[in-house]
Amino acid sequence: MSTSISAADLAAAPFSLGHFVDGRQVAGSSGRTGTVFNPATGQARGQVAFASADETRAAIAAADAALAGWSATPPLQRARVMFRFKALLEAHLDELAALLTSEHGKVLSDARGELVRGLEVVEFACGIPQLLKSEFTENVGTNIDSWSIRQPVGVCAGITPFNFPAMVPMWMFPVAIACGNTFVLKPSEKDPSVPLRVAELLTAAGLPDGVFNVVNGDREAVDTLLADPRVAAVSFVGSTPVAEYIYRTASAHGKRVQALGGAKNHMVVMPDADTANAASALMGAAYGSAGERCMAISVAVAVGDAGDRLVEELRRQVAGLKVAAGTELGADMGPLVTSEHLERVRGYVDLGVEEGADLIVDGRGCRVAGHEQGYFIGPCLFDRVRPEMRIYREEIFGPVLCVVRVPDLDAATSLVNSHEFGNGTAIFTASGEAARAFTQAVQAGMVGVNVPIPVPMAFHSFGGWKRSLFGPLHVHGPDGVRFYTRLKTVTSRWPTSQREGAQFVMPTMK
Ligand code: NAD
Repeated sequence: MSTSISAADLAAAPFSLGHFVDGRQVAGSSGRTGTVFNPATGQARGQVAFASADETRAAIAAADAALAGWSATPPLQRARVMFRFKALLEAHLDELAALLTSEHGKVLSDARGELVRGLEVVEFACGIPQLLKSEFTENVGTNIDSWSIRQPVGVCAGITPFNFPAMVPMWMFPVAIACGNTFVLKPSEKDPSVPLRVAELLTAAGLPDGVFNVVNGDREAVDTLLADPRVAAVSFVGSTPVAEYIYRTASAHGKRVQALGGAKNHMVVMPDADTANAASALMGAAYGSAGERCMAISVAVAVGDAGDRLVEELRRQVAGLKVAAGTELGADMGPLVTSEHLERVRGYVDLGVEEGADLIVDGRGCRVAGHEQGYFIGPCLFDRVRPEMRIYREEIFGPVLCVVRVPDLDAATSLVNSHEFGNGTAIFTASGEAARAFTQAVQAGMVGVNVPIPVPMAFHSFGGWKRSLFGPLHVHGPDGVRFYTRLKTVTSRWPTSQREGAQFVMPTMK
């Protein structure tokens, strides 16, 4: 078991990763493991332990034991730990980005960007004394005062996906911990190194043992977190079928839940939009991170006569896109995360051809010299995709962009609104009237106007609608503070010299 992973260790495979419980790395003891691959080479990097129910319960117990002390720690002191953690994240940014790229495959600049977006949530959490300030009303009745406070919910669990192994956990635990909760993270088994390294940095920042724990594993660990009565709240990000399962199961066990699911994000391109700008925006939004983003644009909705110009410009720009290992300078797009996922995405491209869509750019033959065993597929572009096709309805989660043509804005809006997912969407137009009508009517949690990936900053909240989010509250920002705290309202009066008799009716103001 490695106790610490640094940039220098990256070449030193194989490793064997365990868990992080009560302030230290612990080896797995279940006997079950998974292999962690480098997607650019197809080589195994090492093994990760899969926690048993007992090992998961040990992490919950550590979080439970740390709860009383941490929740009683003044918010200012909790914030100071976050400030030190932020400084450590900045100091280790390159190391973490390299580690992330070696297991996820995304290009290094993108890995850095992911880390910075996570770091911004830490910066938000540094303001927790201000965020937890309460409301007070003097004299709600004669000589009676009332105030509302937000208190921690208890032990919180986070279950996170492979595609943002740093940022998505950081959507959750900085806010949870700053609010006075303790945390157990179950990261993706596909790229587990960054979360373990982050746990070490939190300890180095002065976080008391047991406040943040990591259990690696699969469904056995997840089901234990969902059922254990000591866990009060569950945050999940991943695919929709699992999100729905998490929401139902954890709710049935009496926990508060926020479960973010999959997406099929549409970008509407109006005829008055600048075609080159819209195409450039689509390039990054569709093919960045090889399309493995929940906010990736996977459908371009071309309105009126925008279609021909847009498809032509996309064809031109796709030809210049550089597919290479994420560590290579100038790479735009790296490999997919696993060989299974590569086969799945290829299967969708085959399916699109069978379904009768026009495959304008075919990335299936992509080969990257020196990385023949890597999980690469080039960018794919389909035109004349129809809503009944599976490549339109289902989340592909790869570098596959579908162009759907519609006659007008109403048709574009109702297309977006008819889809089962409602994570993010965007409109590209020069018309304020069109943009306003779209933002008002569209059913999605995050909307961009001439912004292709409208991911809210840390001090706003992130979340989708429809089957992209189960539960009422979004993550980080104000909703994050609401999710990780319970509201308590106190009504208070101190005895005065005046005596009162018993009252048998609802007290009201006279
Ligand atoms: P996934 O659903 O396969 O896995 C997510 C987590 O759940 C992992 O930790 C995994 O180990 C665990 N898990 C998987 N199957 C499980 C099961 N049957 N029971 C219990 N736990 C299980 O997702 P993924 O492939 O890692 O990530 C990609 C998906 O995540 C995409 O659908 C993407 O849209 C979604 N995603 C959504 C958002 C969002 O904000 N809405 C953000 C990032 C990713």
